[in-house]
Amino acid sequence: MSKTCKRCGVTYGDVEGNFYTHPSTADKYRAICKKCWKEQTNENNRKRSKYVAYNRDYLKELRIKAGLTVEKAAKEYNMGFNHYNYLEYKGKFIKKEELKRILKYHGVTNND
Ligand SMILES: [Zn+2]
Repeated sequence: MSKTCKRCGVTYGDVEGNFYTHPSTADKYRAICKKCWKEQTNENNRKRSKYVAYNRDYLKELRIKAGLTVEKAAKEYNMGFNHYNYLEYKGKFIKKEELKRILKYHGVTNND
C-alpha cells in the first residue's frame, strides 16, 4: 500500500512510517504526511501565539523619528516605562497587539 500526501503531493510506500494514524478516516491515516503535519502544526502555533518576533532597532528608529523619549513613547503606546524600555533594549518577542498599537501610532501599516 502507498499513500500520497494531500499537502506536498509526495507518494510514500512506507505509509506507517510517514503518516500519523487517525481513527475516523477510511484508511486510518491522516491525509497529510508527518513532515507536512509538523510544518502545519508549527505554522498554526505561530499564528495562534500572542507574541511575535520584532525588530528592536526599527522600533527605536520609529520612536526617534517621531521625536519621542522612551518615557514619552511608553505613555503614547499605553505601556509601562519599564516594559517598553525592556522591549526596545532587550526584548525578542512582543505581544502582537502591542506591536500593532505602536505601528498604528506611527502610521505604519503592517501586513501581518
Ligand atoms: Zn506532505
